Amino acid sequence: MSKDYYKILGVEKSATDEDIKKAFRKLAHQHHPDKSGGDDSKFKEINEAYQTLSDKNKRAQYDQFGSGFENMGGFGGGQSGQGFGGFSGFNGQGGFSQDFDLGDIFGEFFGGGSRRSSSSSKTRSKKGTDIEISLDVDFMEAVFGTTKEISLKRIEKCKHCGGAGNEPGTKINTCSTCSGRGTVDRIVTSFFGQMRTQITCESCGGSGKMFEKKCTHCDGDGIVTSSSDVKVNVPSGIDNNQTLRLSDEGNVGQNGGGNGDLYINIRVKSHKLFKREGYDILTNIEVSFPEAALGCKKDIETINGKFSLKIPSGIQSGTIIKLDDQGVKKLESNSHGDHLVTVKVVTPKHLSVKEKKVYEDLLK
Ligand SMILES: [Zn+2]
Ligand SMILES: [Zn+2]
Repeated sequence: MSKDYYKILGVEKSATDEDIKKAFRKLAHQHHPDKSGGDDSKFKEINEAYQTLSDKNKRAQYDQFGSGFENMGGFGGGQSGQGFGGFSGFNGQGGFSQDFDLGDIFGEFFGGGSRRSSSSSKTRSKKGTDIEISLDVDFMEAVFGTTKEISLKRIEKCKHCGGAGNEPGTKINTCSTCSGRGTVDRIVTSFFGQMRTQITCESCGGSGKMFEKKCTHCDGDGIVTSSSDVKVNVPSGIDNNQTLRLSDEGNVGQNGGGNGDLYINIRVKSHKLFKREGYDILTNIEVSFPEAALGCKKDIETINGKFSLKIPSGIQSGTIIKLDDQGVKKLESNSHGDHLVTVKVVTPKHLSVKEKKVYEDLLK
């Protein structure tokens, strides 16, 4: 069998590596079997052509001897395609060699990120990591909401070079060792025979770029660790141990990957008067025997200020009086919790002579 790999990819015999890569990506996208109108056998054919033409040695051999040479060499065909989990329909028959980086191809086409975590190429886009911090707020700040400015240490885009990595005004060249791919192929001989693997290009450290002069602030990384002030809107009604998420406020992503998120665990300080249960505020009030027996009015504190509480006559110790809607405003709602006052009737510990007489009279 003699297939014209150049014709399959639709390129000239003089095509550059870049042309071949481009043509392959375009066609692979077009004929991918997961797509409607995709074509499994066509896709395999394109892949086979690319496997040969994208490799300097194979391409040279192909140019000299035509296709089919690989059956004699160390790059055995016939791999059964295991290891490419999640993709059906590509069973073997010389389709994929092990060095074929599916993560690279499919990550780009389908936005699914890298399927091969082992690859360390820096040219691949990478989402920034999330940051998790704690933030202390006062009881009343949690009840009514507040704005806090926090100083956050995170990885950010270098402002000096705008993330490009070069000193402003100097050129960025494509790495000549890897042609900008960030990886180079290496033949490894193992128990199973020869295999081709991709390793990070040492010349450019995987970035695919060569700087005429590296940025003096970030040393070419395009990112720096710095402290920034971040404004945090703490919504009214938030409670202890609840977490706020500020999207995109985490560490910066690389090569077009989005930023991570910032998670803020809220820690609400306790209050000397108020306790909180959900959106309800709980307090206690002490009344004397005569006040409990005869009824009275008591000034109490609520989160909304002073309130004159009417204690009905004959109240029993432990009775809870509810003040409707005097609790905390609910998150994402305009309704409020209640204020619950537990009445405690206090038995006198020390009686004056006069008081003792009164109680003795009552006893009779
Ligand atoms: Zn920089
Ligand atoms: Zn390189």
